[in-house]
Amino acid sequence: MRPIIQSRKLRGVRYDVRGPILTEAERLEAEGHKILKLNIGNLALFGFDAPEAIVADMVHHLPNSQGYGDSRGLYSARTAVAHHYQSRGLTETTVGDVFIGNGVSELITMVLQAFVDDGNEILVPAPDYPLWTGAVTLAGGTPVHYRCDEENGWDPDLADIESKITENTHAIVIINPNNPTGAVYTEETVRQLVDIARRHDLVIFSDEIYEKIIFDDAVHHHTAKFAGDDVLCLTFSGLSKAYRVCGYRAGWVMISGPRHLAGDFLEGLTLLANMRMCPNVPAQHAIQTALGGYQSINEFIEPGGRFYEQSKLAWRLLNEIDGVSCVEPRGALYCFPKLDTERFGIDDDEKFVLDLLRAKKLLVTHGSGFNWPAPDHFRLVTLPDTEVLTEAIERIADFLDSIRR
Ligand code: PLP
Repeated sequence: MRPIIQSRKLRGVRYDVRGPILTEAERLEAEGHKILKLNIGNLALFGFDAPEAIVADMVHHLPNSQGYGDSRGLYSARTAVAHHYQSRGLTETTVGDVFIGNGVSELITMVLQAFVDDGNEILVPAPDYPLWTGAVTLAGGTPVHYRCDEENGWDPDLADIESKITENTHAIVIINPNNPTGAVYTEETVRQLVDIARRHDLVIFSDEIYEKIIFDDAVHHHTAKFAGDDVLCLTFSGLSKAYRVCGYRAGWVMISGPRHLAGDFLEGLTLLANMRMCPNVPAQHAIQTALGGYQSINEFIEPGGRFYEQSKLAWRLLNEIDGVSCVEPRGALYCFPKLDTERFGIDDDEKFVLDLLRAKKLLVTHGSGFNWPAPDHFRLVTLPDTEVLTEAIERIADFLDSIRR
């Protein structure tokens, strides 16, 4: 047989959060090393158990979840999602505006397949959650990265966005709260982003999966609220993070704005939903339970709460390392520190992360894996308890000491 090669569609598609560095970590594990993996925001691995009612609901519904469901998602789950947005001021939301997916990940890929034509430009933040860049590329589009400004709390650089809009630009991706930076945008920032979309006739893809994981005085604003009825906005969220059930695969997308102009696109999205038959049925039962009850993450994210304290500790300890600085995360599950590359002699951040892994048996993700253009950042998941987190950051500090010039 001739060699079997991957399709041309995959050229240029990357997803480094689980890329070559993870393969190397697994190789080291196979050799018998214990690797501390702080590369993925997988809450269950770090003792953030799902609310009992959600697990019970999934178990309860297993016997009657054997058949395919509606390809857009169970009516009850879509109603719960619609109510979620209605109760947050998006009173026009209806069941028909909601598609359920096997996690937000599936929906990002589906939506972009339905929306993007070859050569379409889609504005994506840098840094981004890399699925967005990968999925735009897979769909035949061109991801055009707009800069988020570290000096300004990682807020999107509006002038940079404006300068990158061409006649081929069709949409803008907003990730708020942001992975990897931890930024949570103010009302003013969200309004300004929407205003750009409005002026340039762009569709908005607003990834809000961390909407409930915010600290201190941060407030999350749904982009759709400001997009109103004249800007088409697709809002993505799900149960993976706030409800700690990444493995159940339950996410949704809610469509708002001038849907009457989007009939053809929505038909395409429905076709793709039909082709995948339906999302995982048992997990969809958990959506109603999650959104309808008080299975909140609040106890973790308030001062004194486990996750709050871990996030603050990680941020503080990273900043104590000579040559490292980190903007305080205001939400999400990560720190995205900056390295003084001259002092550490770093010109390739993937190599830095691999060297750290081999030397200290600690896995983090390089900043360029999030489409950050310089080799001067990495992302650390702040989910381990304070003892493990402290040890992890000590390993980073030791390693940096060993390479400091
Ligand atoms: N969007 C962002 C910003 C994420 O960080 C993640 C997962 O880490 C996802 C989407 C995917 O979430 P899901 O588990 O719902 O597929």
